[in-house]
Amino acid sequence: MDIIDLHTHSTASDGSLTPTQLVEAAWRAGLKAVAITDHDTVEGVAEALTAGQALGQVVVPGVEISLQGYEAQGMPASMHLLGLFLDPGQPDLAAGLERLQRARAERNPQIVAKFNALGIPLTLEEVKAFAGGELIGRPHFAQALLARKLVANRGEAFARYLAAGKAAYVPKWRFPPAEGIALLKQAGAVTVLAHPGLFKLGLAGLEALLLRLIDDGLDGVEAYYSEHDPAFTRAVLGLAARLRLVVSGGSDFHGDPKPDIALGLGRGNLRVPASLLAGLKDRKPGPARARSIALPY
Ligand code: AMP
Ligand code: FE
Ligand code: FE
Ligand code: ZN
Repeated sequence: MDIIDLHTHSTASDGSLTPTQLVEAAWRAGLKAVAITDHDTVEGVAEALTAGQALGQVVVPGVEISLQGYEAQGMPASMHLLGLFLDPGQPDLAAGLERLQRARAERNPQIVAKFNALGIPLTLEEVKAFAGGELIGRPHFAQALLARKLVANRGEAFARYLAAGKAAYVPKWRFPPAEGIALLKQAGAVTVLAHPGLFKLGLAGLEALLLRLIDDGLDGVEAYYSEHDPAFTRAVLGLAARLRLVVSGGSDFHGDPKPDIALGLGRGNLRVPASLLAGLKDRKPGPARARSIALPY
C-alpha cells in the first residue's frame, strides 16, 4: 500500500530536521506525500516545496495551530488544528500566525522568570540556541534543561516543570475555534482536528466535540496517528463517515525530540493510506467560499 505522512515538524518549529532534510527523509522512506505542519509558522514551507521539486517528492504545505477549548464540562482545554494544502503566502494567514508568535514572545520571558524564581538561572538566549528558526517553544526549554543536566530527558522536563499546571508552566493565548478554523480556510486550507486520541474523551465525548467544531467550520479529523491504536482509528473513521468529515493521518514526526516516532511509520505500525489525498483535496475551499469568510481582524 502507498503511504503518506500529513503531520510533521521541522526546525522551523520544534523538529530537528531542516525542511530540506525532512523532505529528503520522506523521499528515502518512499512516502507518496509528506506535509510540513510546523507549530504556528509556515516559515519552513517554501524550502520544503523547493526540496520537493528537486527530488520529485510531493510536499503538502501546512501548519498546526493551537485553539482554545470550549468552556464546557468534559471538553479539552486546548486543541491542535492542522491546516493542509494552504497558500503560505496568503496575507491574512501571516497576520494570524503573527498573533500566535506574539503570544509566544510574551510567554517565553515569563517561563524564564518562573525558572529563575525556582533558583534555576536559565536565560532566554540559552534557550534560543536550541531553536532552529524564530519560533521558541517549551521543547526548546526542555533541551536547555537537559543540557544543564537538570533533567534526565525531555519527558522529565515536561513532567517536572513545563506541562500544564507544573512549576514553570505559563499558559499562552490561543485562537477561539471558529477564528482559527476561519484563518486557515481563508488561506485555502483543509482544516483537520489533530490527534483526537490524546483527549481521552471516549467516543461519545469526541462526537460532541466534533459536532461543536463542525459548527465552527471544521473539515476533517486525524484518524491515523502514532498514538492511536487500530480500534480507535477504526472508530474515528466511523465517526468521520457519519459526520461527513474528511479523514487525514500523520505521525507527528519531530526527529530527535520524539526519537521513538519514525516518519511515515510512527511507532512502527502507522500506515496512512495515500488514497486519503483525493478526499482531502476535494475539501479545499474554493476561492468564492474562502472569500466569503469574514475574519474578525
Ligand atoms: P508549546 O507550543 O511551546 O506550548 O509546546 C508544545 C509542544 O511541546 C508540543 O507540540 C510537543 O511537541 C511538546 N510537548 C508537549 N507536552 C510534552 C511532553 N509531555 N513531553 C514531551 N514533549 C511535549
Ligand atoms: Fe511539537
Ligand atoms: Fe499537536
Ligand atoms: Zn504536531
